[in-house]
Amino acid sequence: MSEHQSRLDLFIDRMVSQRACLDYAIARTAGQSGPVFELGLGNGRTYHHMVHHVQDRPVYVFERAVASHPDSTPPNDLVILGDVRETLPASVARFGASASLVHADLGGHNREKNDVFARLVSPLIEPLLAPGGLMVSSDRMYFDTLTELSLPDGAVEGRCFIYQR
Ligand code: SAM
Repeated sequence: MSEHQSRLDLFIDRMVSQRACLDYAIARTAGQSGPVFELGLGNGRTYHHMVHHVQDRPVYVFERAVASHPDSTPPNDLVILGDVRETLPASVARFGASASLVHADLGGHNREKNDVFARLVSPLIEPLLAPGGLMVSSDRMYFDTLTELSLPDGAVEGRCFIYQR
């Protein structure tokens, strides 16, 4: 991160990187049939982007409290409500290693807290990803068996991360 960057610059870099990484990951996993997982619904912008571009797979949302824009609110049967520290481990029995794409945007404004949380959830996400599946995250993750990929054109280093099983 450059010391000359304002918070607005950082925000724009994050948004541009999210879109570039999601578009890349959706295209690269298009041939896979496993579900897509959105971890952290928030306002629903990235969820809305994904359901617009993912045609062939269900998009499940993991969120502790749904409060998204009405246009970006998933159907109840595709919401896995609760804290991901509990819902991710419970989902291994239901889905196994089947997710073709996982997108995580669970962080807030505190970078240190986000890093602690990323270390905690990484091993909970890892067993849900199908072979060849991709994981896109706004925070650096800590996986034992996934490989970090180069970012696509348009994404800014450090603002988004892509991993492959
Ligand atoms: N990507 C979203 C968008 O484009 O609108 C923004 C996501 S927002 C930054 C983070 C979301 O993650 C919040 O809605 C928050 O409730 C959710 N979240 C954070 N920690 C969570 C946890 N432990 N379990 C479930 N949801 C969590």
